Amino acid sequence: MVENQLRARGIKDERVLGAMARVERHLFVDADLKDKAYDDCALPTCEGQTISQPYMVALMTELLELRGDETVLEVGTGSGYQSAVLSLLAAEVYTVERLQGLASRAERRLTDLHYQNIHVIVSDGTLGLEQHAPYDGIIVTAGAPEIPCDYAVQLKMGGRLVIPVGSRHSQVLYQARKTTSGMDKLMSTGCVFVPLIGKDGWA
Ligand code: SAH
Repeated sequence: MVENQLRARGIKDERVLGAMARVERHLFVDADLKDKAYDDCALPTCEGQTISQPYMVALMTELLELRGDETVLEVGTGSGYQSAVLSLLAAEVYTVERLQGLASRAERRLTDLHYQNIHVIVSDGTLGLEQHAPYDGIIVTAGAPEIPCDYAVQLKMGGRLVIPVGSRHSQVLYQARKTTSGMDKLMSTGCVFVPLIGKDGWA
């Protein structure tokens, strides 16, 4: 997976490649999908949600530009796989999920696997997570109609936001950096995520 899907497609950050090699993806998918866990695709999880394609997880993580001492907010815990990857690359990971069932399952799994710097919170992530702000990075793993306004407020100066923005069915992945003059946006690639549902997202 790391060599053929990630390095071959241009993922260069060795720390990201190392984390992708270490986190055991088959422990984050349903039992009947274990033999597909390292395939080059997204996979269905509970309640109609998905665990993202390995390449997309690596790309989004690389765009956060983590060095190891950061506080990161993830919006959309889902299976907890992306949170596990982030936890190896940052100091603290706060991950927000709107569905209680998914959050509980992910939290149990991450605890069983001894990840100690991941904090799972049930709430509407379109509002960010004010109580632990400011963040060095915010990663949104669901597709937004536009960039929710609280994210820029809750980022540190120089902090990175990685977010898919577009229609309900297809989006463009953006990296936005907070600067003194606003958010500097860079377009990355086309992508397809489940919708970001909430007050500042889809209805
Ligand atoms: N990062 C996940 C993939 C998440 S799929 C993984 O590695 O498995 C997107 C997730 O975003 C879904 O679980 C969905 O319920 C959640 N979601 C959608 N809107 C949300 C919101 N406003 N706040 C928090 N989570 C949200």
